[in-house]
Amino acid sequence: MSQPKILVLGPPGAGKGTQSSNIVEAYDVDHITTGDALRANKDMETEYGTPRSFMEAGELVPDPVVNEIVKAAIEDADGFVLDGYPRNLSQAEYLDDITDLDLVALLDVDREELVDRLTGRRVCDDCGANFHVDFAPPEEEGVCDECGGELIQRDDDTEETVKERLNVFEENTQPVIDYYEDEGELVRVDGEQSPDEVWDDLQDAIEDAI
Ligand code: AMP
Repeated sequence: MSQPKILVLGPPGAGKGTQSSNIVEAYDVDHITTGDALRANKDMETEYGTPRSFMEAGELVPDPVVNEIVKAAIEDADGFVLDGYPRNLSQAEYLDDITDLDLVALLDVDREELVDRLTGRRVCDDCGANFHVDFAPPEEEGVCDECGGELIQRDDDTEETVKERLNVFEENTQPVIDYYEDEGELVRVDGEQSPDEVWDDLQDAIEDAI
C-alpha cells in the first residue's frame, strides 16, 4: 500500500506541528507545512510582495504563492502530512484537484487556551524545538534543552498578532472545517488533552482510515 495522505487542521497553537512530527515518525511520510516553507522564504520576491509583509501582520499569504509550494511538495512526496494548509476554501478546492486524502483530522482547542499557548511559546532559533514559558519551560531560561541554541519568540506570536491570526482563522479557515465536515470526512480530536493523549486519539483515527 502507498503511504498515507493526512491533513491535520486546527487553529494556530492547536499542536499541529507536534502531532505532524509524530505522524512523520510513525508513518515515514513527508511533513508539508506552508508556515515553515514561508518562514524559510520570507523575503522571496513574488508579484504580490514578500511573504514577510503578510506574515508579520498575521494575514494570509496570497493563494497562488502557497498553492505552488504545496503542489511541488505533494508531487515529490510518497505519503504526507499536510499542516497549515488549506487555510481558506479556495485552497481547499485547489487541494481537492491535486490529490486524494486518506484522513482529515481537526485538533479542537478553545480560543482562550490558544492565546495562552501562543504568546508563551518560545522556539529554538537553531533546531526549531518548541517550549512554553509556563507549560513546558526549558531547564535554563532562554536556552534550548535539545541543542543549546537560543530560544526566541516568533515575530507573529506577540499578543496583537496572535489575536489577528485567530480572527483570520475564524473567518477563513472555519469554512474549510465546515466543508470537510459536510463531506463527512472530518474526524475531530480533543486538542486540549496532553500531547500524548492527543497522539493516541489521532493514531486511532489514522489506523481506522488506512
Ligand atoms: P503557521 O506557522 O502555520 O502559523 O503560519 C505562519 C504564517 O504563515 C501565517 O500567519 C500566514 O501568514 C502564513 N501562512 C502559512 N500557511 C499559509 C496558507 N496555507 N495560506 C496563506 N498563508 C499561510
